[in-house]
Amino acid sequence: MTQQILITLCKKESEGESEMTRNSMDDNKLYREQAQHWLAEYASAFSGSARQGLSLQDDVELGRAWMRLKDDAGYGAISWPQAYGGAGGTEIQKIIFAEEELRYNLPTDYFAVSLGMPVPVILRYGTEGQKQRYVAPAIRGEEIWCQLFSEPSAGSDLAALRLRARREGDNWILNGQKVWTTWAQLSDFGVVVARHDPSLPKHRGLTYFFVDMNTPGIEVRIIKKLDGARDFNEVFFNDVKVPDTQRLGDVGAGFAVALDTLMIERYAVTDEAGWGPKLVDFIAFAKQARVKGRPAMEDERVRAEIASFYVEEVGLASIHARALTAIQTGREPGPEGSIRKLVVANKRQRMAALAMDLAGPCGILCEPGASTRTEFQASWLDSPCLRIAGGTDEILRNTLAERVLGLPKDHRPDKGRPFSELKA
Ligand SMILES: Cc1cc2nc3c(=O)[nH]c(=O)nc-3n(C[C@H](O)[C@H](O)[C@H](O)COP(=O)(O)OP(=O)(O)OC[C@H]3O[C@@H](n4cnc5c(N)ncnc54)[C@H](O)[C@@H]3O)c2cc1C
Repeated sequence: MTQQILITLCKKESEGESEMTRNSMDDNKLYREQAQHWLAEYASAFSGSARQGLSLQDDVELGRAWMRLKDDAGYGAISWPQAYGGAGGTEIQKIIFAEEELRYNLPTDYFAVSLGMPVPVILRYGTEGQKQRYVAPAIRGEEIWCQLFSEPSAGSDLAALRLRARREGDNWILNGQKVWTTWAQLSDFGVVVARHDPSLPKHRGLTYFFVDMNTPGIEVRIIKKLDGARDFNEVFFNDVKVPDTQRLGDVGAGFAVALDTLMIERYAVTDEAGWGPKLVDFIAFAKQARVKGRPAMEDERVRAEIASFYVEEVGLASIHARALTAIQTGREPGPEGSIRKLVVANKRQRMAALAMDLAGPCGILCEPGASTRTEFQASWLDSPCLRIAGGTDEILRNTLAERVLGLPKDHRPDKGRPFSELKA
């Protein structure tokens, strides 16, 4: 299917390169060089060995210092308006800097959700006063935001959420539970979607708010992941009072605002290895590992896998180049983000699993705190996350089937029926 999608994408419009495009390509090349220079000068003090042995809290503080430094240098929220603390640059400059920044292992994860979705929603739906109050401190890492969407029975099907919002005068009272909330334990604020009217069809009975995470009644419980990481949480709401002034969008428009939130990050930047070891690392490993007394690199099955990883990388690089061209010429990047994440996440998991198999019994050993970027075992333990977060494999396949291949839409039997009549 992946191959078919690639062919379909390639067949679609390919506009001639105008002089204007060439000029902006030169500008972008210069911008990349400047960013590389700046990062070479400053990033090492915040990455790699500078982070080794730090507690979570100290690493977050290092991250905040990095965010301030970036902002002072004009690399914080590159494409956001200057009026609210952004750098007033272009979307393509943002992507270029993110690509270069990814080459270093910097403590930026803590701010990724915050600046990726919740704060852009404030920029789009907040009042002037809210934008002035909340955007700049988030850019500088002084305040962190989380996204309270998923629930125990609402993830892929976000509109199935059950957290209730009851109107009381100028306030709303929120009751229920969210889950998988990344960095809720560090967050000052969160955006939350709640059901204000169960008698309406499920997509229409939702309303969108932001909450101060220190409001009485909010309880955050850390979930320990399979690899020991503690980056997401369950969040319980017990009679949490939220002023109506913290509603974003109209009453009943919560699903549309939520979709907007998810669409804001039009094209997420992931490296080709999806935060795992790279193909060159695997090849180096396969030269050392042995299969039946010979270097694994000489085994035809291993060579076939390497060839298939390589083909996927080349395809991904083409898709990435296509998306960048679209953004550069003011077009929407289309479904590239979906196919990219699908392929990257699966490739990462397969490559790590093969490396562990080749390592024999030692393959199951994993040092606590091992880097997911360099250690195959750590990468394998973390790799299911990338296949679930931001849209599971199956949901991405549905998107590609419907939007690229033009196949019939997914079956939606509950469409139009009151939420209260649907089976839990
Ligand atoms: C690392 C990580 C970080 C996360 N951070 C956040 C966060 O900050 N905030 C937040 O709100 N959520 C967060 N999530 C939750 C994430 O958005 C959900 O896990 C995801 O949307 C899937 O939902 P679910 O877990 O409820 O699985 P479900 O939706 O219940 O899916 C279960 C299985 O059914 C399949 N499936 C579901 N629907 C269909 C369909 N229509 N067709 C075919 N197959 C289908 C899925 O692919 C999956 O295999 C995070 C998740 C992870 C892994």
